[in-house]
Amino acid sequence: MAPGILAMEADLGPGNEFNSPMYHEAVGQFDKVATLMGLDDNVMDRLRSPQKSTVVSFPFRHDTYNEVETIFGYRVQHLTTMGPTKGGIRYAPDVDLGEVTALAMLMTWKCAIVGVPFGGAKGGVRINPMELSRAELQRVTRRFTMEIINVIGPEQDIPAPDLGTNEQVMAWVMDTYSQHVGHAVPAVVTGKPPALGGSVARREATGRGLMFLLPQAAMARDVDPVGATVAIHGFGNVGRYAAIAADQMNAKVVAVSDISGAVYNRDGLDVAAAARWVDENRFLEGYPDADFIDGDAIFGLDVDVLVPAAIQGVVHKDNAADVKARLIIEGANSPTTIAADDILREKDVFIVPDILANAGGVTVSYFEWVQDIQKYFWTENEVVARLREIMVSAFDDVHQIAVSEKVDMRSAALIKGIRRVADAKLVRGIFP
Ligand code: NAD
Repeated sequence: MAPGILAMEADLGPGNEFNSPMYHEAVGQFDKVATLMGLDDNVMDRLRSPQKSTVVSFPFRHDTYNEVETIFGYRVQHLTTMGPTKGGIRYAPDVDLGEVTALAMLMTWKCAIVGVPFGGAKGGVRINPMELSRAELQRVTRRFTMEIINVIGPEQDIPAPDLGTNEQVMAWVMDTYSQHVGHAVPAVVTGKPPALGGSVARREATGRGLMFLLPQAAMARDVDPVGATVAIHGFGNVGRYAAIAADQMNAKVVAVSDISGAVYNRDGLDVAAAARWVDENRFLEGYPDADFIDGDAIFGLDVDVLVPAAIQGVVHKDNAADVKARLIIEGANSPTTIAADDILREKDVFIVPDILANAGGVTVSYFEWVQDIQKYFWTENEVVARLREIMVSAFDDVHQIAVSEKVDMRSAALIKGIRRVADAKLVRGIFP
């Protein structure tokens, strides 16, 4: 097993605007690896903070017309060195500036790891999308888009779906932006419906991309991917398509969860039936043909592969010791805390880190942006084949770094991403 690098407590300095548990984690990981690499101190300092952050508050009218709520929204652009910035917009009740900043930083490394010409960005609106009607969701989306309209654009910053947002939300962002500039601009967002210039196979890209890496990850721990048992935390965009891809590869998906709880069948779930159930009933709760268990119980199941694909920080110091899986493929962003990472390394669990594992989403988003700009659309086979090639080759590069530098996969992925970004920063120099 590769020796671990000790986690560092990130020293953010007094009055740091971005202070939050997730930002601490992201900077802590960065500091640890940048120090190991001997990264230039000035570049290191520069990369710890985002280049641009927009914080907005705006009025949101509920369907009951007499109720107006003040809502907070964020758009953070971590790095503008490499090209436009790219990253999702999440709707969640607890999202804040620090969380969005951490996610924007992770996007920077992710884009660099798969070699797409973007810096990282992320957006968020602090609202619970599950409590909104369709009309309310549309009003929030259009107003938030207007609030950030001057900082997004196809050459500037291109949003995509993330937690709590979807193709429909992207369609409203695209429509609002297009109405504002006076003509249709499909390339302003990715992850939109194909009818508006969305790419085929974008919807499935993140989950599918995760599972493209299963055979290689399995080899690292001598697990047979055929018949390997898989548990997936989260059954939204990422979790659902990861489950479908795993099923198609003849792995055995035994558990999936959503915010209502988890369904578990040790003989294997009928993934298509579970997906249909959620389409019809919104949540997994009540799904027949499986035991209904607590969502967090997913992490302690006796399975070969664990896929966190919902929210951050779910594998932490208090449950990491219970993990029985030999492999963790991270679909969610930042699902494993630094403390949990240290425990899992001791247990010799092989982790394919978020910035590598879930990069299929931004990779096909890049394909979508290219197709929109060229107004020339690819077939599903072309998209999937190119996605596979990029994911597999990124895994190989990272694995090679892990072996040659004697570090874990997360550190190796960060080395690859940070190196590329630092090279670009140094060669561009400082303006003026
Ligand atoms: P989604 O909203 O489509 O699905 C989220 C899933 O998690 C749902 O099943 C939901 O019920 C569950 N969930 C939400 N809150 C939860 C909670 N508090 N506890 C337990 N379960 C909860 O979101 P998504 O797009 O699938 O994103 C999931 C994760 O993957 C996020 O961390 C996101 O940043 C990351 N990610 C998404 C993409 C993408 O292309 N959508 C790409 C890369 C990374």
